[in-house]
Amino acid sequence: MRRAEILAIGSELLLGGRLDTNSLFLTDELAALGIEVRWKTIVGDDEADIMDAIRVAGRRAGLVVMTGGLGPTGDDLTREAVARVTGRPLRRHADTVKGMMQRLAARGRTPTAAQMKQALIPTGAAVLDNPVGSAPGFCLSWKTCQLIALPGVPAEAKAMFTKEATRFVAEPLQTRAQARIERRLLHTFGIVEADLDARVGPLAQSRRGVRLGLLASPLGVTVSLTVCGGSSEMAALEQAARAVREELGGLVYAEGTETMEDVVGRALTTRRMTLAVAESCTGGLIGHRLTQVPGSSNYLDRVLVCYSNAAKMELLDVPKMILARHGAVSPEVAAAMAKGVRERSRADVGLSVTGIAGPGGGTAQKPVGLVYVGFDARGAGLLAKEFRFHGPRDTIKLRASQAALNLLRQWLPLAQIHKT
Ligand code: AMP
Ligand code: MG
Repeated sequence: MRRAEILAIGSELLLGGRLDTNSLFLTDELAALGIEVRWKTIVGDDEADIMDAIRVAGRRAGLVVMTGGLGPTGDDLTREAVARVTGRPLRRHADTVKGMMQRLAARGRTPTAAQMKQALIPTGAAVLDNPVGSAPGFCLSWKTCQLIALPGVPAEAKAMFTKEATRFVAEPLQTRAQARIERRLLHTFGIVEADLDARVGPLAQSRRGVRLGLLASPLGVTVSLTVCGGSSEMAALEQAARAVREELGGLVYAEGTETMEDVVGRALTTRRMTLAVAESCTGGLIGHRLTQVPGSSNYLDRVLVCYSNAAKMELLDVPKMILARHGAVSPEVAAAMAKGVRERSRADVGLSVTGIAGPGGGTAQKPVGLVYVGFDARGAGLLAKEFRFHGPRDTIKLRASQAALNLLRQWLPLAQIHKT
């Protein structure tokens, strides 16, 4: 069953109005479970076309994940198409009706006939709860494959897949009660995929039943370890995770659902330190990421976006001479920015970024993707580090923000706590 097909359903996906993004995260999620997506099909809101697509997918893939067409409107035809292809007539699912009535009653309403359509499920299918919307999904074994139907709304598809559907994906329906899936995600920054594979591949593969996946993004490479089974598989998973942690040390910045900004926030909180940031090429992205964390007002003092040389001089006291001699993208300016924002704000730590995000503006000496991160804190002194990133502008900005936060994570322990 390790070959999957994703079937994205919706005419808007064919008319140029909207991109199929659901298959992107589904591919990641399935890869992390050790399942390879071999085909992606997009089909419009036409019942005969959807039926054809299901027939084709069912013949070649052991797992077919559909998204879209589960809504209440006339063009939502996924459940009818599945019912007809598989010969499993639609039945009203009592619990879904009850849930729908309760939700609507809370707002003083009753379900319309169109809304009631959402409670129709093919006979024999398992219902997948929708934690963030009204239309449930379903999962059905048919011939040699498993069909999973998810809503089209990306947030709903994502929540339903991760919360409800993964347990059906790894094991056939009959055995799911005995087996469970566990996954450990270890997020790394500062090591490329090939090196990571060479270092952790043997560790993971030596443990029975542990599936290794590497998921690369501008924020780094995530090591995914997955098992499906009982207690011996769970123990193997913990052993593999421990071995990977030991092998990688500080390259792992977070685990599970934690982000770099969570980790940095916690490090500042435990040290009772405040932070001030000066951003040039990242344009406020670091500030945005830091303020995504609830409670960040406890440690974040300010974020200044200083794009021009004038702004760097006016708001951060970067000396004109340093700008003239070394240029705005230089370790000297990064350091002066970090020092400036720290001194002006009287925060404990100053962090800065300056770089060339591209696509223009690069030279032979200072190519697109050249980024300097500066750090200033008592005890640690003034530090600056160079990075060379590749990719389009938004990728370089993301990587620069991640590099800056990662250095903050690594350099913070050097700073002295000087609170009274
Ligand atoms: P539906 O469940 O088909 O009514 O879709 C609900 C919403 O989700 C619509 O706004 C769709 O454009 C959107 N949507 C459906 N399929 C996808 C997909 N594969 N990727 C991204 N958005 C989608
Ligand atoms: Mg639709």
